[in-house]
Amino acid sequence: MTDSATDAFAQARRISQRLDAVNGTDEHEYLIRLLKVVEEAGEAAQAYIGATGQNPRKGVTHRHDVAAELCDVIVAAMVAMHGFHPDPQALFGEFIKEKADRLDAGTHLVYRDAPHGEYRCTGCAFRIPEDQADEVSYDAAQRAHDAALSAVPVPH
Ligand SMILES: [Mg+2]
Repeated sequence: MTDSATDAFAQARRISQRLDAVNGTDEHEYLIRLLKVVEEAGEAAQAYIGATGQNPRKGVTHRHDVAAELCDVIVAAMVAMHGFHPDPQALFGEFIKEKADRLDAGTHLVYRDAPHGEYRCTGCAFRIPEDQADEVSYDAAQRAHDAALSAVPVPH
């Protein structure tokens, strides 16, 4: 992890320890910290709506406001993690590396390219055409993909 990430986790630990001292460390407190993440995510969505100017009565906010609210989401999550894991920094470091490695490896992710579009895979040529896709659930598409993948080796 970079120094700034380490510093961020050190600051989150400080905030968590301060909340522990003031509010205690019972399950209710950890739940409230978890709910704070959701609250901040809602504020990020609200800021995005504001940045689009969708509600003329409220004026237009800025994309910077969205980014600032996303900072709140990250901080709230970093603080909340302390109630659920003894070493949030290590957990996060492993977690984000695994995510990035999976993307770098071209992980096979089945997705539907539009609400009524075809199923495709990010890692191979698997597809279920649009005219058949409505008859197939996402789970069934994933199973069909996995079966096809295990039948024919796909180079990575
Ligand atoms: Mg906020």
